[in-house]
Amino acid sequence: MQKYLVSYDPSNGEVVGKVEITPVGQIGPIVQDARAAQKEWRKLSVDERISYIGRAAKLLEESSTELGKLLSVEMGKDFNRGMGEVRGCAADAVYRATEVKEAIKTQKMNGYGVETELQYNPLGVCGIITPWNYPMSMAHWFIIPALTAGNTVVLKPSEETPLIAEAYVEIFNKILPKGVLQIVHGDGEQGQVLTESEVDFIGFTGSQKVGKKIMKSASESLKRLVMELGGNDPLIVLEDADIDRAAGFAMGSSFENAGQMCIATERILVDEGIAEKFEEKLEEYSRYYRIGSWQDKNCNIGPIINKKQRDKILLQINEAIDKGAKVLAGGRNHPEYFIHPTVLTGITEDMLIYREETFGPVACVTRFKTKEAAVRMANDTSYGLGAVVFGERDVEEVANQMEAGMVGINQGIGGAGDTPWVGAKQSGYGYHGSPDGHRQFTQARVVSKRK
Ligand code: NAD
Repeated sequence: MQKYLVSYDPSNGEVVGKVEITPVGQIGPIVQDARAAQKEWRKLSVDERISYIGRAAKLLEESSTELGKLLSVEMGKDFNRGMGEVRGCAADAVYRATEVKEAIKTQKMNGYGVETELQYNPLGVCGIITPWNYPMSMAHWFIIPALTAGNTVVLKPSEETPLIAEAYVEIFNKILPKGVLQIVHGDGEQGQVLTESEVDFIGFTGSQKVGKKIMKSASESLKRLVMELGGNDPLIVLEDADIDRAAGFAMGSSFENAGQMCIATERILVDEGIAEKFEEKLEEYSRYYRIGSWQDKNCNIGPIINKKQRDKILLQINEAIDKGAKVLAGGRNHPEYFIHPTVLTGITEDMLIYREETFGPVACVTRFKTKEAAVRMANDTSYGLGAVVFGERDVEEVANQMEAGMVGINQGIGGAGDTPWVGAKQSGYGYHGSPDGHRQFTQARVVSKRK
C-alpha cells in the first residue's frame, strides 16, 4: 500500500515534498479524538475561541512569505497571488469569526406568557473536504466558522496540495488546544471514509461529480451538508454594453488562476451586433497574458495542476476546433504543463467546451441574436454558480433571469457586506457566509419557559 502522498511542482513535475497518507483505519479514532476535544472547546465563550483564532492568524501573517512560496510552488499560481492568499486568510480570520459571533447570538422572545430562547449551539465534529485551486482559502472559509461556532474540525485537503494544508494546520495547532483541528491526508478514499465516519457535518468544496457521491455516503446517517460545487458561468454582453470594459472583464475572469477558478467565465455570450468589435478587443487583451512558473514576475498564467486536467482542457479545445470554432489566440499547441491563453469564437451549444466546466485559460465566445436567446442559453445547464451581465437598458431585466446563486451587473460577482458564497441548481447545496450561512455550522435549538 502507498505510504506517502508526493506533492509536485505543476510547472515542471519536480517533487516538492511528501506527507504520510492517513491509513483509513485511523480516521475513526481521529474523529473520536475530535469529539473528545469538542467537549472542552464548546465550553469556552465565543470570545475565547476568537482569541485563539486571532493568535493563530497572527502567526499565519508572520509566515506569509514562506507559506506564500510553498502555496505557489505546490499549486502553480505566481508568488504575489500565493502570498496574497495566505495574507487574505490571516486578515480575514478574526473578521469572519466576529461575523459568526454576531450571527449565532442567542435570540430571546416573549409572548403569551412564554419566554423563548433561540440558541445556535455547536454541531459537534465537522469534516471539511477541500480542492487544490485555492488550497488555503477553501479550507479556511469553512474552518473559521466551524471553530468559532464551537465545533472541532477534521480537514481532508486535496491530494494535489497536501503540503500547504499541513503547514496551515501546523500553524493553527501552535495555538489551538489538542484535537480541535486535525488533518487527514489522502485522496477520494480517505475523503469517502471521512464522510462515512461519525462526523456531524460535512463541508465540501469541489466538483459536482464528487458532491453527488458525498451526498450519497452522508445519507446513511443524514449528516448536515454544505457543498460548494463547480460552475459553468455565463457572461452575457448586451448590444449597448461598454465593449472595452466587458472585454477586459471577460479576459480577466477567463484567465485568472489559469482559469482554474469555480467562478471563472466559462461561456461568453455576445450580441451579434457588437461581436466583431468585442472579439477584436479580446484578441488585443489576450496579448497581456503570458504563461510561466510561479517565480516569473512577468507571467500571469501559471501551469495546469496535473496531466489529467490538462488533457481534459486540450480535448475540449481540440473538439471545438474540429467542430468549426475559430481560434483568435492560443489554439491546439501548448508547451508541457501549460495551456497558452486561448480565445475561441464560433462556439456552439453541442461542444464539450460549452457544456462542461473547462477549468483552464480558455475564453469561449458564442454569438446571440436576441436577449431572450441569450437568457435561454445562459440557463441551459445544470450549473448555477455565478453569472455576469454587461449592458445598459435591459441589463437588470436580463440579470434577474439568471439562474445563478451570485450575479454581477457590469462587474464580477461579489459585493458589499456579509453575503453568502452560494451556488444555485447543481452548483451547491446549502452555503456559507452571511448570518444564515454562519448558522449552518450550528444546531438551532428552541427552549421555551412558562413565565
Ligand atoms: P474534486 O471534487 O475532484 O476533489 C475535491 C476533494 O474531494 C479532494 O480533496 C478529493 O480528494 C475529495 N474527494 C474525491 N472523491 C471523494 C469522495 N468520493 N468522497 C469524499 N471526498 C472525495 O475537485 P478538485 O479537482 O479538487 O477541484 C476542482 C473543482 O472544485 C471544480 O469543479 C471547481 O469548480 C470546484 N470548486 C468550487 C468552488 C465553489 O466555491 N463553488 C470553489 C473552488 C473549487
